[in-house]
Amino acid sequence: DRAAAASAPITPGALADGTAVPLLANLGKPGGASEAVELGAEGVGLFRTEFLFLSSSSAPTVEEQRTAYTELLAAFPGKKVVVRVLDAGADKPLPFLNDAHEENPALGLRGLRALRASEDILREQLTALAEADAATRRSPEGPADLWVMAPMVSTVEETEYFVSLAKDYGLKTAGVMVEVPSSALLADRIFRHADFASIGTNDLTQYTLAADRLLGSVASFQDPWHPAVLRLVREVGAAGAASGKPVGICGEAAADPLLAVVLVGLGATTLSMAPTALADVRATLLTHTLDDARRIAEAALAADGAATAREAATAAASSQK
Ligand code: PEP
Ligand code: MG
Repeated sequence: DRAAAASAPITPGALADGTAVPLLANLGKPGGASEAVELGAEGVGLFRTEFLFLSSSSAPTVEEQRTAYTELLAAFPGKKVVVRVLDAGADKPLPFLNDAHEENPALGLRGLRALRASEDILREQLTALAEADAATRRSPEGPADLWVMAPMVSTVEETEYFVSLAKDYGLKTAGVMVEVPSSALLADRIFRHADFASIGTNDLTQYTLAADRLLGSVASFQDPWHPAVLRLVREVGAAGAASGKPVGICGEAAADPLLAVVLVGLGATTLSMAPTALADVRATLLTHTLDDARRIAEAALAADGAATAREAATAAASSQK
């Protein structure tokens, strides 16, 4: 009955053969944590820190940031919480960080590039995160497992820079978003420095298809089912498996239940999405084994385009039973 179903505990993300696929939440606003927990999020796979910066003409203070991060970590005792440092530029311009006059802001000084150019802002953010981490270590419910990552990383050198800076602040687990094809192609070398990678399929699709994700006239290109995007995901998945390091997905693609299966088949080890998408993805994962997921992924990879990849995956998924 419905009331019993609603109160039954939500099971952790897993495939039909029992392979665990932790299902995490994307959060980008204050609040939201309790809804994510109610919907069964096993942690946070992407905490977008932009909201702390977007409403003001100057960067928030270390104290303001520490309060926000402490509140976030306190909501997830014993759980993984992946915090992304400020991703300014392109679709999220900030007056104190970005040059408003770039002609191609998606290809400009954004993400980690912008933070590096204003390194004091990055250092303050890492300071606040380290302080929040230390504060929640003393909490009676137990600490969250804080991971930090940088957005828009396009070189191995940037990976080294960010990971070593984060460690200087005592942050133990540091990684990068893979959302630029260069990083996907060099994932094996990125993993020599990063503790983990999280694939941002929104930007990875934009940069692979060379189609501005904000431009309506090219919106039809913004489809993460495109086999070129899937090949890049496979590259990262293989590099993660070879190095024994986790590969998360935190772009919108993870919220599409069948695509989520494909991404796991390509080597994703965790999926992070808007909390409202968790139930459908959880239910669909339970209907496929890891072998099924790999076979469904192969079918999608063999297609010429996004639409045919989806069709091929749909056919492979239904022929399995
Ligand atoms: C992405 O690019 O897929 C991503 C998760 O980051 P954002 O959408 O915030 O750019
Ligand atoms: Mg992105």
